[in-house]
Amino acid sequence: MDFELDETQRLIRDTARKFARERVAPGARARDRDEKFPADLYREMAALGLLGVTVPVELGGSGAGTVSYSLAMMEVAKVCASTSVGMAVTNMCGELIYRFGTDAQRQTFVPRLTSGQAVAGAFALSEPHCGSDAAALRTTAVERGDRWVLNGTKQWITSGAYAGVIVVWARTAPAANKGISCFIVEGGSKGLHVGRHEDKMGLRASNTVALTFEDCEVPVDNLLGKEGDGFKLAMIALDGGRIGIGSQACGVARAALEAAIAYAKERTAFGHPIGDFQALRFFLANMATEISAAELMTWRAAAKKEAGVPFSREASMAKVFCSEMSNRVCDKAVQIHGGYGYIDEFPVERYLRDARVQTIYEGTSEVQRVVIARELFKGARP
Ligand SMILES: Cc1cc2nc3c(=O)[nH]c(=O)nc-3n(C[C@H](O)[C@H](O)[C@H](O)COP(=O)(O)OP(=O)(O)OC[C@H]3O[C@@H](n4cnc5c(N)ncnc54)[C@H](O)[C@@H]3O)c2cc1C
Repeated sequence: MDFELDETQRLIRDTARKFARERVAPGARARDRDEKFPADLYREMAALGLLGVTVPVELGGSGAGTVSYSLAMMEVAKVCASTSVGMAVTNMCGELIYRFGTDAQRQTFVPRLTSGQAVAGAFALSEPHCGSDAAALRTTAVERGDRWVLNGTKQWITSGAYAGVIVVWARTAPAANKGISCFIVEGGSKGLHVGRHEDKMGLRASNTVALTFEDCEVPVDNLLGKEGDGFKLAMIALDGGRIGIGSQACGVARAALEAAIAYAKERTAFGHPIGDFQALRFFLANMATEISAAELMTWRAAAKKEAGVPFSREASMAKVFCSEMSNRVCDKAVQIHGGYGYIDEFPVERYLRDARVQTIYEGTSEVQRVVIARELFKGARP
């Protein structure tokens, strides 16, 4: 077991850290307040290889593996969770097309994602009536000549109004899981309508919209994977995506911890810095310990994925632990700030709002527990 980062991992982490500090952090508060989507930052991020950390260099990525990806996500999330979620989804779409696409699909769509030409990628699985129960989706795709014709509505699509490349799941046959297929749809396609931007509690600079497909035609060649394999592809992508959200949660929690330590050193009460009070010192000690455990769980899942061995259970464990940890840590950071934690002058209120969705998207905490328990009942090592 080696706890040291290799040269590539260190390079990616340092690149992401510098970019996050210098370019992402300065506008984070204003973007959150104004709900401003960070399109320019994605273009800059692309130039650094951060929109395709795990895809090969020939396709415009960094070819650096999942641990590097996790490190990069943590750095960006630490300064702006909104920016990190779009980064996560773009990486996820690029990797999915790289892994399951035809040569033509890889050459056409992956470089658009990694170069920032597409601005961002979007992952369109959830629908208004179903999120956890993705196999109940109702969007249809019917083959007509050399086209697939899509009809239906997707809900909660991150970066949906801006994404140049959208991976869409649709029903091609009645069977629940096996009737679902996956398609690559270009942003701006005829028949693709972008719904209103959701007014969210957190991640306010991230764009979240419904996408409606009305006789939206895509070339037959844009079927990703085999017909009927869509559900399997979604589950594979989400396993990896959970490492991304676990990393995001760790980044946000670390930001909250650092803010809380700084505040505890400065604020005085009863003639002492509040950081002298044992109650708060214990809060901080617990926060730091939980973050450290969460990071290790995330990197373990990432290392397994990178090694090509099964990692679903580890990814779900990391996701559920990191996201719940992040909510606890951000809540405590607000508590340590007292009344100042509740106003937007200090960043911890944003961290808490941003953390909240982490137990919901990319599979709720309950769904992660379903996955973990299923593995246990299959006889996996507890
Ligand atoms: C900001 C944001 C961004 C998002 N981005 C995307 C995106 O880019 N692409 C995309 O496809 N989706 C996206 N989503 C959707 C997200 O993945 C879903 O909201 C999530 O999967 C939960 O689905 P749901 O909202 O339909 O809740 P439901 O599935 O209706 O769940 C409601 C409650 O029931 C519980 N529940 C459901 N099934 C079970 C079960 N079997 N056992 C125990 N409890 C259960 C859930 O845990 C939850 O507490 C996003 C959501 C948000 C809020």
